[in-house]
Amino acid sequence: MTSVATAIDLITRAEAERLAEGAAASHAASGSTAATSTCSADLSKGPWEFDAAEALRGAPAYGPGASSGDVAPASTPRQGQLPQEYKEASEDELHARIRAAKKALGDRVVVLGHFYQRDEVVEHADFMGDSFQLANAALTRPDAEAIVFCGVHFMAETADILSRDDQAVILPNLAAGCSMADMADIDSVQECWEQLEELFGTEPDADGRVPVIPVTYMNSSAALKGFCGEHGGIVCTSSNAATVLEWAFERGQRVLFFPDQHLGRNTAKAMGVPLEQMPMWSPRKPWGGTDPETLRDSRVILWHGFCSVHKRFNVAQIEKARADYPGVRVIVHPECPMEVVDAADEYGSTDYIRKAIAAATEPTVFAIGTEVNLVNRLAAEYPQHTIFCLDPVICPCSTMYRIHPGYLAWVLEGLVEGEVRNRIEVQEDVAATARVALERMLAARP
Ligand code: SF4
Repeated sequence: MTSVATAIDLITRAEAERLAEGAAASHAASGSTAATSTCSADLSKGPWEFDAAEALRGAPAYGPGASSGDVAPASTPRQGQLPQEYKEASEDELHARIRAAKKALGDRVVVLGHFYQRDEVVEHADFMGDSFQLANAALTRPDAEAIVFCGVHFMAETADILSRDDQAVILPNLAAGCSMADMADIDSVQECWEQLEELFGTEPDADGRVPVIPVTYMNSSAALKGFCGEHGGIVCTSSNAATVLEWAFERGQRVLFFPDQHLGRNTAKAMGVPLEQMPMWSPRKPWGGTDPETLRDSRVILWHGFCSVHKRFNVAQIEKARADYPGVRVIVHPECPMEVVDAADEYGSTDYIRKAIAAATEPTVFAIGTEVNLVNRLAAEYPQHTIFCLDPVICPCSTMYRIHPGYLAWVLEGLVEGEVRNRIEVQEDVAATARVALERMLAARP
């Protein structure tokens, strides 16, 4: 799989630092502050309010910034209490400690920062990118004993699946889960699969296509990637979802797509699949809340999952952007609801959005429907354009937000002292089948 690393389009450390500085300056210039213009006053609280002991006292499961009140399932890992010294340290002190620990560790550590991560964390990242780009970026640092992933839980799992056994993948705050990924757990998917097998059997049709192919979005647990590997299925990203669906339709009569209904619906609709052939499967309801007849006629069965951040975008925001800026170019992420994607000028992954802006030769106004940290960084990177987030309320990914510099300093200083904190390890049998599903994705061609 190392060949993938050469093809990825990542932002390296020097660029990440420059962009973090630019984004901070642009926030300051616009007078925007987390305390006055966010979707939740809770954003001004420290993420340690959600560490285990606090969480047990009834803090909301997905913390500040949550835009839909999603509740983390009991199986979501909990972070133990962060030592007091990291909570009390000033921002400057934490930055100095992070830099000192990284210097002491040298090539023994690589720090990865997701596009949606807060600026004060990504400025310490050696690479910035999306989840799969980052997992592959780690492969370019074979000397790294530790891979510190400043993202969310499923991303660290993917990095562990793709990295060597002797490399420790670390998630600085264990409570950084993904509410979308948690909406499809392995038990519910297995239960759904058994019902589908009962309905359709397992025999292929005359064209050799099996009744159902499972497809999981990268934003899912390792267990689900493993499930797909084991059942003839495949993983997709928001960049290659159409290619992967084509791959699946060649091999199956229909697809079971999880966990993001919107990516599944938007992609299949663009490929010509009628909406009536895309029933929704709601876990814990008989026949997923649909019926055997509808399932028999289906092409894509959509899991009832969504991203809390992208679900916030709506058509009224697009109409307002067009009224305020005639000629504005509206680009949204495919995790947005279908009516938003339909109303936009274009849609695509974070990589697509970045490339579209980079390719614009004339000063352009862009209204972007994706996570605000990425949008602000793009605005700083391309000052010749006017770039703003469609959502006027600042509502970052509430789980990514939990990777505060205090946790980064804590895990890095642990490594300096010889202690590996918050290691994410995927069981080898699960990792082996998950790798099969990832390899199928890499081999799929348009
Ligand atoms: S932005 Fe949405 S899909 Fe991405 S990590 Fe956050 S909750 Fe999950």
